[in-house]
This record gives sequence, structure tokens and C-alpha cells, in this order.
Amino acid sequence: MVKKIALLGATGSIGGSCFKVVAEQRDHLSISLAAAHSNYSKLCPLALEFGIPTLVFTGIDDTSLQASIRREFPTLRIYFGKDSLLSLLLNEDYKIALNAIGGSNGIEATFAVLSRGKDLALANKESLVMGGHLVKKLQGNAKILPVDSEHSAIFQALGKHPLSEVEKLIITASGGAFRRTPLSDFPAITPQMALKHPNWDMGAKVTLDSATMFNKALEVMEAHWLFDLPYERIDAIIHPQSIIHSMVQYVDGSILAQMSVPDMSLPILYALSFPERWDSEIVQTDLYRLPDLSFEPIAKERYPLFHLGLEVARQGGILPTVMNAAVEAAMKLFLEQKIRFTDIPSLVYRTLSQTMQITDPDLKTILYTNETSYQLTLGYVSH
Ligand code: NDP
Ligand code: MG
Repeated sequence: MVKKIALLGATGSIGGSCFKVVAEQRDHLSISLAAAHSNYSKLCPLALEFGIPTLVFTGIDDTSLQASIRREFPTLRIYFGKDSLLSLLLNEDYKIALNAIGGSNGIEATFAVLSRGKDLALANKESLVMGGHLVKKLQGNAKILPVDSEHSAIFQALGKHPLSEVEKLIITASGGAFRRTPLSDFPAITPQMALKHPNWDMGAKVTLDSATMFNKALEVMEAHWLFDLPYERIDAIIHPQSIIHSMVQYVDGSILAQMSVPDMSLPILYALSFPERWDSEIVQTDLYRLPDLSFEPIAKERYPLFHLGLEVARQGGILPTVMNAAVEAAMKLFLEQKIRFTDIPSLVYRTLSQTMQITDPDLKTILYTNETSYQLTLGYVSH
């Protein structure tokens, strides 16, 4: 039977890889609903090509533009606004939603999908970082299938083993664009330099978060919620070649790894095919052509946001939301060249130090704090 997907964040980097997977797996997969923020000129033609009947754009408010898009694509059912997306997720026909919305914008879709009891292929790590405690309560019998490559690797290496047999999870990190850059050159890092990832082709936020390795702190939090392990049993190490996507170390000393050349199509395919594996030609790994695999620790002075992120993770409550929002704002300021790369950690630290902890925040509090922390951080720099 063909599995119907609600594809959220369809015009992004993960969205693009999902289209590649669906194009190859037409016997298994179809897209019944797709969502983006505003990139209609990309999504509407794709909807015609892939036979997607229903689209939603959360960020197009201009009613004359809405009317002209509907006129240009009369065969598509097109909706606008965030509320339309949330209501479609509660009412449309789909088997699994792939949430690949970028950044903190993705959390409400995760809640809508799970509150309906639907399965969720989750790329949007921020959903768990900000609201992991609520997601776990809401999940019920629905499956959350990790799309982040590290978590897909761990999910595969865990198989059906009970957590009591797991010593620790080992999350691998590429080290980002500046693993070898002399620290004295960091103040001169430009947005263009930070937006180039050595191994992965990804959206702007996750690429920048990889350069600072804040992304790895987010992934440690994501692993904590997905696999229900305490932070003491989740390690991260640098593995510059991004061939081993992560590992599980068992109590008997054995370490299981999942490997392939870096390509997000594979974790997307696995999340959508689970519990089966389907024939695919998209990702082929030629072992003879791989570079030597190496590992190194994550240096504190090079990646301050990673280490601050781990501290914030352990404190939990509202602080991961505050830190993520502060990083999103600081990244925006950096991309606009209003601050230097090396100013990012101090802005984030400043926002965190002005925040009161809230333990066990509800979704409303999370959304409110996300917005206020973002604005607070932006406000440090005059526009
Ligand atoms: P991109 O920036 O490439 O794409 C983001 C997508 O989300 C676009 O389709 C964008 O639409 C859409 N979007 C943004 N805001 C909203 C909103 N408010 N409502 C609906 N749609 C919205 O991001 P990526 O694909 O790189 O990443 C997506 C998520 O997956 C992130 O959480 C990231 O951390 C995670 N991830 C990504 C990886 C990767 O390889 N790229 C790897 C692992 C995880 P529009 O184009 O119209 O603006
Ligand atoms: Mg990842």
C-alpha cells in the first residue's frame, strides 16, 4: 500500500531530499499535503509534478498575492497561514508527517501531528529541544522516527536492545567549517565562510549551527528525549569524514555504528520505510573510495556554544528554548554583518543570564519565551 506523507518544510534542503526519495519510491510513497513558508514558485510546480493535491504557505499574508497564486495554479487546493497548516494536520488524510520546517518555527506542527496520534518523521530537532518533555507525554502510541542522521544511526544501531544493555550513545560531529581554522582568525569569519559545510549540503540555520557546533548540543538534547537516556550516557565526538553517523556502545564493550557517504536521503528513506527496508539506488557507499576514518575530542575554546549548550541541556526547563532563540537571533545579526562570529556566544550568554528558569513549561510559555528571547537578543544591537 502507498504511504501518504504530509511533507512540512517542502522547499528546504530536507524537503528536496524527500522529493528525491519519493521520486524513486513511487510504489511505496506519495505526498498528500505539503507545506512551506512562502516559496510558492518552487512548491507549486513540484506539487503538479508529484500530484500533491493540497498545499499550505504559512508566511504569505498578502491577499492579492494569495489570489494570484490560486489563479496561476487552479488545480491545486492552496491554503495560507499557520492556523490553516495546524488545522490541515488535524484533518487531512496522511499516514506519516515529515516535519522538516526550519528552526523553532517547527514545534507547533509536531504537536499537531502527535496530538492526532499520527506517526512523525522528525527532522525538526528544535521541537524536542524546546518541548521534549511535552512531546513525550503527547506521543502515546504514535511513532517518532528520527530523520537527523545521527539519531537515525542510533535508532538503527539500537534495534530492539533494551536501554539496560546500552552503556552510552556516541554522537559524531564533523567539526564544521572551522575545525582547523586558527582561533586568531575567528573574528574575521564571514557569513559566506560559515555557510559552507565541509560534508553536508543543508539549510542556513543548521549549517551555521554546525560551524559553532551548537547543532551538536541540540542533537545531544534530541537524543536525550528520543532515546530516554540521561545526559551522562550521551557523548559527542568529532569525526571529520561524516561516514559513521553515530554509534551505540553496549555494556559488553561492543560498539555498533551505522555508515554511509553523507546524504540525508538515507535517514529520510529509513524513517519513511520503517519497519521495512526498501531497495534504493540513491545512496551508494564504495568502501574503497572512503577517506581514512578518524576521531577527536571537541575542544572547549573552539566550540563554546557546544559546551554552553550541554550545561543548558542539563538544567532543562525553559533554558534550551531561550538558548535556541538567542542563537537564532545572533545568527541573524551575524548574517546581516551586524556582529562578528566571535560575538555570538557572548550575546547568547547575555540572554541566558537575564532569564529566570521555568521548570516544566507548557507550549504557550515555550512559544512566548521563544519570541521574547529572540527579540531580547536582537535588541542588543541597534538596527
Ligand atoms: P531549510 O532552511 O533548508 O528549509 C526550511 C523549510 O521550512 C523551508 O521549506 C521553509 O519554507 C520552511 N519553513 C520555514 N518556516 C516555516 C514556517 N513558519 N511554516 C512552515 N514552513 C516553514 O532547512 P533544512 O531543510 O536544512 O532543515 C529543516 C529542519 O531539519 C531543521 O530543523 C534542521 O535542523 C533539521 N535538519 C536538517 C538537516 C539537513 O541536512 N538540512 C540535517 C538534520 C536535521 P520557505 O522555503 O518557503 O521559506
Ligand atoms: Mg545531524
